[in-house]
Amino acid sequence: MSRTARSKYYVQSVTDLSDGVLRCKAYGHSWEQGPVNRFSPVGREVWVVKLRCTSCPKVRTDYVEPGTFELDNRHYTKVPGFTVIDPTDKTDLREEAIRRQRARQLNRDVPVLSERQQSA
Ligand SMILES: [Zn+2]
Repeated sequence: MSRTARSKYYVQSVTDLSDGVLRCKAYGHSWEQGPVNRFSPVGREVWVVKLRCTSCPKVRTDYVEPGTFELDNRHYTKVPGFTVIDPTDKTDLREEAIRRQRARQLNRDVPVLSERQQSA
């Protein structure tokens, strides 16, 4: 039985990744800071910082020491279709991301947006 049949968290190859997940795997997540709450697990207080990725469904939770702001712990949610079964490295992910973008551009060069336009 293949691993694809076992879990919704796997895809076979980079070509099966969604555009959003591919972007994150090739270039990194784009974290948006969400709520910060005070939390006291087993008598210790920590800041619980929620961060959501704006291009895939991943949520990151940072547990931060209130006094020093040192990172105490970090947790990520699992995202369906995130893990590639075929052996894959950053080069494969970058190649697929570039191929898809070139297809969206109809394989033509286009004007580069200014930083202000890109962040809008
Ligand atoms: Zn992401």
